[in-house]
Amino acid sequence: MNENNYRVIIIGSGPAGLTAAIYAARGLVGTALFGGAAPGGQLLQTTEIENFPGFPEPVAGADLMTGMLSQAKRLGARIYNEDITAVDFARHPFTLTTASGQQYSAEAVIIATGARARWLGLPSEQKYVGRGVSGCATCDGFFYRGREVCVIGGGDSAAEDALFLTRFAAKVYLVHRRDKLRANPRLQAKLRAGAKIEIIYNHTLEEVQGEAKAAGVKIKNVLTGETRVLATPGVFIAIGHEPATEIFRGKLNLDDSSYIVADDHTHTSVAGVFAAGDVMDPDYKQAIVAAGTGCKAAMEALEYLEEN
Ligand code: NAP
Repeated sequence: MNENNYRVIIIGSGPAGLTAAIYAARGLVGTALFGGAAPGGQLLQTTEIENFPGFPEPVAGADLMTGMLSQAKRLGARIYNEDITAVDFARHPFTLTTASGQQYSAEAVIIATGARARWLGLPSEQKYVGRGVSGCATCDGFFYRGREVCVIGGGDSAAEDALFLTRFAAKVYLVHRRDKLRANPRLQAKLRAGAKIEIIYNHTLEEVQGEAKAAGVKIKNVLTGETRVLATPGVFIAIGHEPATEIFRGKLNLDDSSYIVADDHTHTSVAGVFAAGDVMDPDYKQAIVAAGTGCKAAMEALEYLEEN
């Protein structure tokens, strides 16, 4: 096999991509994974993971990903620390081009490029990411038992996060920039019934305040200009996610929010191209789910290779 030709190429190096690499390499097909400059995905920024099965004590995101990376390498996957910047799915085998202009061909491609939590872009928000500011209530809610938290946003994610956080927090403020929530009516009814939830309409987050860790937020009434401070050490930003699908636009079916449309078996709109993890999952966004769909995608790719 030529150096640049593989049977399976995986794009992305989070739990979905690395699990796909483990399964594809174990299927004894030539497998390469393009993981960007620092393979590991979003979990590299996560300090403690308490909900990945198999770890009785919290595991650092970087340690979990290093383990998956070593496992994929040991089983024979070739890892490239480069980004794929262009794809051609119109002809088979598919062609993938890296940032440095190298071209690779693959008979099957698994896309696991993930999704980024959208941030407001305030300097104080970025200063406290991981120290009070979080983009994932499921991951970090547990750290705020008995404390007050706020959630920024008005969509389904913000509503679900606010409801989830009532399990731990003494009080949950949902701060939304308009006078109406975008969240579906079922979730809105649950929010209204939540004794610990206070919805603050027509307010934007101006600043996250604190010392070493966040201690609260300054919010501004967009109608009056008045500001007030909420003493919330937990600040959950839930204004949506951006799936990393720019290079696939026009080449695969994407939904209205730019997620890759894939069926239950990870098949995309192009035969031989599979999708796994957050890039095709607007709902769960959990490492274990991503790993599960990565496994599915590799098994589907192996079956596709046998049949084609
Ligand atoms: P979304 O529907 O795009 O909602 C984002 C929310 O954040 C909106 O309320 C928006 O305000 C607000 N927002 C955006 N930018 C902002 C900014 N710069 N400052 C302040 N607020 C800002 O995102 P999502 O809630 O993550 O949902 C994404 C998709 O996944 C949706 O299709 C949703 O239905 C789906 N989803 C479904 C479920 C479920 O069914 N259980 C759960 C989660 C997500 P405006 O309203 O003013 O635009």
